[in-house]
Amino acid sequence: MNKCTRCGHVFSDDEREIETETHGLDSGPYESYSTCPMCGGEYETAAQCDLCGDYFLEEEMHNGVCDKCLIDSITYDSFLGFMKSTEGELERFCFKNIYGIEPPEETNIHLRNDLVQKYQDAKKMDTLCKGLSFICKINKYILEDKDTTELFAEYLKEVKE
Ligand SMILES: [Zn+2]
Ligand SMILES: [Zn+2]
Repeated sequence: MNKCTRCGHVFSDDEREIETETHGLDSGPYESYSTCPMCGGEYETAAQCDLCGDYFLEEEMHNGVCDKCLIDSITYDSFLGFMKSTEGELERFCFKNIYGIEPPEETNIHLRNDLVQKYQDAKKMDTLCKGLSFICKINKYILEDKDTTELFAEYLKEVKE
């Protein structure tokens, strides 16, 4: 499939508009090129989002997951699941966003359990106060670092299967 970079229309190779450029010459061979059938704009190859199945350009996806699916999937619980399944992520996020200090070099199961508890408390504060400050931190943490965004997208694909 193809997607127009101007109007966003998605279309197959058969639907492409073939334009011929004669350069004012009476006979060929003529140059020909293809464009979007809707607007005549340029297009690029599009791939399917692994979660919703819609077509997107590569630059619109993170590891095969589109922006909308990725953002819609950010919840307290999905992020906690992601952190538990990714080495060091629980420590990195909680120390930065709950304690405001660098994580220690060494970790252990007791520390991790404490961090999960602190995480649940922060989630509860958001819920009780109808606040968004903690989920905003989660969104920022996932989206501001490209590697984290891609790892999170990878996790979403894993849990979907
Ligand atoms: Zn178009
Ligand atoms: Zn999607």
